[in-house]
Amino acid sequence: MTESVELPSRLAILPFRNKVLLPGAIIRIRCTSTSSVKLVEQELWQREEKGLIGILSVRDAAEVKSIGPTISQGVGTDSQEQSSKIQIGSSDAHRSDAKNQSEVVHWHTRGVAARALHLSRGVEKPSGRVTYIVVLEGLCRFSVQELSIRGPYHTARISSLEMTKAEMELDPDFIALSLQFKATAVELISVLEQKQKTSGRTKILLETVPVHKLADVFVASFEMSFEEQLSMLDSVDIKVRLSKATELVDRHLQSIRVAEKITQKVEGQLSKSQKEFLLRQQMRAIKEELGDNDDDEDDLAALERKMQSAGMPQNIWNHAHRELRRLKKMQPQQPGYNSSCVYLELLADLPWQKTSDEHELDLRAARERMDSDHYGLVKVKQRIVEYLAVRKLKPDARGPVLCFVGPPGVGKTSLASSIAAALGRKFVRISLGGVKDEADIRGHRRTYIGSMPGRLIEGLKRVAVCNPVMLLDEIDKTGSDVRGDPASALLEVLDPEQNQTFNDHYLNVPFDLSKVVFVATANRVQPIPPPLRDRMEVIELPGYTPEEKLKIAMRHLIPRVLDQHGLNAKFLQIPEAMVKLVIQRYTREAGVRNLERNLAALARAAAVIFAEQEQSVSLNKGMQRIATPLLENRLADGVDVEMEVIPMGVNTHDISNEFRIASALVVDEAMLEKVLGPPRFDDKETAERVANAGVSVGLVWTAFGGEVQFVEATAMAGKGELHLTGQLGDVIKESAQIALTWVRARETDLKLAAAEQNNLLQGRDIHIHFPAGAVPKDGPSAGVTLVTALVSLFSQKRVRADTAMTGEMTLRGLVLPVGGIKDKILAAHRYGIKRVILPERNLKDLVEVPSQVLASLEILLAKRMEDVLEQAFDGGCPWKQHSKL
Ligand code: ADP
Repeated sequence: MTESVELPSRLAILPFRNKVLLPGAIIRIRCTSTSSVKLVEQELWQREEKGLIGILSVRDAAEVKSIGPTISQGVGTDSQEQSSKIQIGSSDAHRSDAKNQSEVVHWHTRGVAARALHLSRGVEKPSGRVTYIVVLEGLCRFSVQELSIRGPYHTARISSLEMTKAEMELDPDFIALSLQFKATAVELISVLEQKQKTSGRTKILLETVPVHKLADVFVASFEMSFEEQLSMLDSVDIKVRLSKATELVDRHLQSIRVAEKITQKVEGQLSKSQKEFLLRQQMRAIKEELGDNDDDEDDLAALERKMQSAGMPQNIWNHAHRELRRLKKMQPQQPGYNSSCVYLELLADLPWQKTSDEHELDLRAARERMDSDHYGLVKVKQRIVEYLAVRKLKPDARGPVLCFVGPPGVGKTSLASSIAAALGRKFVRISLGGVKDEADIRGHRRTYIGSMPGRLIEGLKRVAVCNPVMLLDEIDKTGSDVRGDPASALLEVLDPEQNQTFNDHYLNVPFDLSKVVFVATANRVQPIPPPLRDRMEVIELPGYTPEEKLKIAMRHLIPRVLDQHGLNAKFLQIPEAMVKLVIQRYTREAGVRNLERNLAALARAAAVIFAEQEQSVSLNKGMQRIATPLLENRLADGVDVEMEVIPMGVNTHDISNEFRIASALVVDEAMLEKVLGPPRFDDKETAERVANAGVSVGLVWTAFGGEVQFVEATAMAGKGELHLTGQLGDVIKESAQIALTWVRARETDLKLAAAEQNNLLQGRDIHIHFPAGAVPKDGPSAGVTLVTALVSLFSQKRVRADTAMTGEMTLRGLVLPVGGIKDKILAAHRYGIKRVILPERNLKDLVEVPSQVLASLEILLAKRMEDVLEQAFDGGCPWKQHSKL
């Protein structure tokens, strides 16, 4: 770079459209327009010693308008007015002449003298037009004194604008500014060098080039707006130029730093995850070395092994393997990883082919087993043996599903488990009570959060074989609502045609249920949806008589209960008489569940007594202190250690015998009261409740078996209205209405009203109540009981306390048959009732009633309502008495 340049007074001018050449900058241009080609040719190409040309920026009119400075019109310059511009029709070095001529351009009044560093000439084909490529170096500023056109291009009279070196060095401000500039420039260079990993070369510039030129050189190398470049060009005063350059260099430096910060941040994030990856890899390697297998990958490998040994059918295996491949590509933190794992675990856990070995079915052994597990139930056991016999002859027979129906605690569940034991299969119980959602049977689709398989698949996973005996417990308690119909899903489960490909929504692949032996239980038959009932063979288990309960308790419940509590007959004895009392006074149920519970309570109480005794014995016996150095230390610390020393030659059995008490605890009435509380039921209840006129004893049927139902009627002053309470359904309300009508229609026949008073309801209301008021009741079988209560009320004669009744009544007084006779009679027997009035047409149902129950009851059959009344009152129907009077 030249230190100083001698400028001629006139220079050929090459216009730069919207561009600035600063001193110290090097630029490569291509000249194509006629004027610029001529200029290059005449001023540079043809000259031997390459001369200088002037570069003058021109601006489009539109550009000027947008920034809006004053524009001087016409050719010529005003040397005094530095900021003025010359407007002239001109040409551009880069544009076609025709276009340029029509345009108005504004010349800048200051330019830069430039020297050509390199020239090359070219001829365009096919037009033959000559073009030049020129490399120019900006040298120094000048100001235009006068601009004129000489031939094809402009020339200008100019004057140099560069200050002399001596002038500058004297100024202290200049020195300060140049130092500041240099400092900023050094900073920029070091940042750039660091970034581009270059060194040294740019720094040499700082030392060799004068600072005022350096300012231009630095600024020229930045990308700046045209306006900024112009203002730099206009900074003739070196101090102004330096401060402007410092500002620009600093700005550039800042922008580089910001950009660097951003990239660093991005890089930092990248490297964090890369670092994590690396660390994980290392951890894996370390664990492998240590033989630690609890790694994710090992988990997956274990899962895959488990899946391989699960014996899945080919299509299921393909599906599972696809899912596993997807899982392997996932990161453990990724959403869905866990649910996918759980799903595959389930697939691997399911018993696709695993069966429990079904041993050769021995019918006699099965029968013996059932006999040893259950007392009585002869018919039921016989039916089960038949079922097993068919299975033995034809193992894949698609027989009906057995459904045990009966009140709670009659042994439905335990019979089903006996079937499993007889078949040598595993047993699994699926509770369906309260299931209203189809998804409980079929599972939720995996798209739901917290989705899981249905109860059947869950049960199969639990039991881990595909041929268990599966008990569908309380199948009558399923209901349907908006969430679907579980019964229809169960239909598919129980249908041998469909259950080979049972589709659980969660599993999403078919599972073969055809090897499962299904057994169902229900309390009642009616609520079971008919299509489902159709698939099942209903086996009814009625409630037990007190005698049966006693036998069950003595033979089965007591030994089991004692065993469960770690006792035996040598510890606790519950005599038959006491068991009878428990049955009579503490339980009034069809089954034996509460009986078992009460016996368990007795056993618990006994266990406490023995446990306390045993403790007091063991603490006093065979104890002595032993001392070892270790113990001595501990004892020195104040810890009291005692050890039991067992004498040699005495085996443990003998020792435990030492703690036995001499005689067994025998349960007596006092203990019963102490443990079970005061008696809950007695035989006097009925007598007490029918002590007043207007009360009768009915027999009804509930989910808990037969029950005794009292009906209370009373009269009070009113307007002849009938009030009914006790959570009654429509049918039972209508029965009450019919009963009242029948009684009113026969008030004179029955001599219920005096001759002068021919309306029973005159001036009074009737209220009928069915205790217990909290239990909903419905059905027609209370008809006869209602009439009896009303007749008792109007005649003011008490109903016999030992008599209970059931039967529907027509408006004309005919007694119609009702259901559940067996359960009702058993209930009456439980309540200590001696006489039962039944509709005559229910006679055939008595064969089902155990004979010992029948023997203890007087069964009275009624055809008409009058027959019922005749039997219900002491000394016959009330009107007969009246007639006698
Ligand atoms: P359910 O399923 O009908 O409600 P469970 O099968 O649970 O009743 O029976 C309740 C308890 O009574 C069980 O311990 C069962 O062994 C016992 N049990 C019921 N009936 C008999 C019976 N006939 N012989 C022996 N134990 C019985």
